Formats: sequence, C-alpha cells, structure tokens
Amino acid sequence: MKWEKLPNGKWRRVKSSKFDPGSPEYEKKMKAKKSKIICYCETCKSNYSLAEPCIHHLPDGYQNEQRRKLWKTSKKQKIDSRQGRI
Ligand SMILES: [Zn+2]
Repeated sequence: MKWEKLPNGKWRRVKSSKFDPGSPEYEKKMKAKKSKIICYCETCKSNYSLAEPCIHHLPDGYQNEQRRKLWKTSKKQKIDSRQGRI
C-alpha cells in the first residue's frame, strides 16, 4: 500500500491500480512507450516518435488543434514577411 502526502499535511492512500489514467506515473509510462514507436513523416522527411509527433501527425484534440493553428499562423507570417507585407 502506498501513501501520498498532500499539500495540507494529510495522508492519502494511493490507488494501487497499475493503470491510473491521469496520474503522473501513468503519463510517464505512456510517454516512454510512445517514444519507442518511431514513424516516418513524408512531409518533414524525418522520423518522429509517437511521444513527440510532428505537426502533420498530431492526434486530434483541443491542445493539438491549438498547436496546429499556431503553426499555420507562424507559417503564414513567415510568408507575409518575406513578401514585405509586415
Ligand atoms: Zn511532419
């Protein structure tokens, strides 16, 4: 049985389940697993791991949607500045 000290000084029993989605331990394990899965991106012409997918291979999700938008914006800005619009 594992116990975890809470910021308020109290102790809480930690769930013994190996898979506790959302726990830092679980995230770490998943990331380690994913980082071993290497794929190749035709667009980037390089390899990427599932833990750090390139912009073309992000799974769907709100945060990734934000990243994609940012990426598109920065790409557009680069083009605009090259053409002297900014
Ligand atoms: Zn890519």
